[in-house]
Amino acid sequence: MIIVLKPGATDDQIAHVIDRVESLGLRAHLSRGTYRTIVGVIGDEAQLQAAPLEAIPGVAQVVPILPPFKLASNEAHPEPSVVEVAGVKIGGGYLAMIAGPCAVEGAERMDAIAGAVKKAGANLLRGGAFKPRTSPYAYQGMGEEGLKILRETGDKHGLPIVTEVMDPRRVELVYRYTDMFQIGARNMQNFNLLTEVGQTRKPVLLKRGMSATIKDLLMSAEYILSEGNSSVVLCERGIKSFDNSTRNLFDVAAVPVCKGLSHLPIIVDPSHATGRPDLIPPCALAGVAAGADGVHIEVHNCPEEALSDGPQALLPHQYAALADQIQSLAALLGKTISVPPERKLAAR
Ligand code: PEP
Ligand code: MN
Repeated sequence: MIIVLKPGATDDQIAHVIDRVESLGLRAHLSRGTYRTIVGVIGDEAQLQAAPLEAIPGVAQVVPILPPFKLASNEAHPEPSVVEVAGVKIGGGYLAMIAGPCAVEGAERMDAIAGAVKKAGANLLRGGAFKPRTSPYAYQGMGEEGLKILRETGDKHGLPIVTEVMDPRRVELVYRYTDMFQIGARNMQNFNLLTEVGQTRKPVLLKRGMSATIKDLLMSAEYILSEGNSSVVLCERGIKSFDNSTRNLFDVAAVPVCKGLSHLPIIVDPSHATGRPDLIPPCALAGVAAGADGVHIEVHNCPEEALSDGPQALLPHQYAALADQIQSLAALLGKTISVPPERKLAAR
């Protein structure tokens, strides 16, 4: 960390900065230039993260050298991480093909959709049992009954499952059913929830908040990692913009940006990013071409009857056509789509 002093900083102020740094157990190295004086801090920067050094009179700026997301950073961990979800690998050359309806709506429907996406090449099944809705009057999900249906359907079709947990008080319940937790965009900075899933050893799919920066996303991942859970997969699902042509703005550059900063796998969700079935294939392919470690896509066999996100769902045959294209692109890029192992499902 470098502490840059204001041009007119007095000797007393400089001495005070040095005292403060040393009182925190670090060494200070003073460097007086013609125009600027700076203090280099030597030692574990983490000690200083909670100290508001900018508040000291005479200090102009505090410039960190190491990223604040220590565990998520690829400086600490240069090799890409591979996250395993009940035997399905994500990252480090393995692509996740997560597919399923927005919400679990019933056993029969779930079975039909799961069969179709499995046949098309999906390796993980998604479905929400607890739905984060903008309106409290909108469909909220089937709750535990939905978790049971998703679990049974996943087991039947040999697909590990991913489902959203919205409430720290429900982590234990969702844990019993799922193979991977999903933290939705609206909860990306629900720090109690992040801490709670961080204390489990189950993989977490962490979606980027719609108004979150990439640094915010990585700091949220850090909450999970710092609790000891190293199985975190990031997800770019679109951010707010002024343009309403699409539901959100698909930030495809977030993929290589994250890759440049972090070892964690990152997948894309073109369903929520665009909200338009016609835009899902091009954006899914763009995401994979940009280096994404997988795609997360909503599929429904009767979108007009869907209880949530029907307008953005792909029909099973549309998903199958896209999955074919993703497989071809994966082969071109030398990536593998991990096949779920027979019956290696959640430890309940
Ligand atoms: C979802 O996956 O259905 C969902 C609600 O996603 P997001 O949190 O990205 O809006
Ligand atoms: Mn949805």
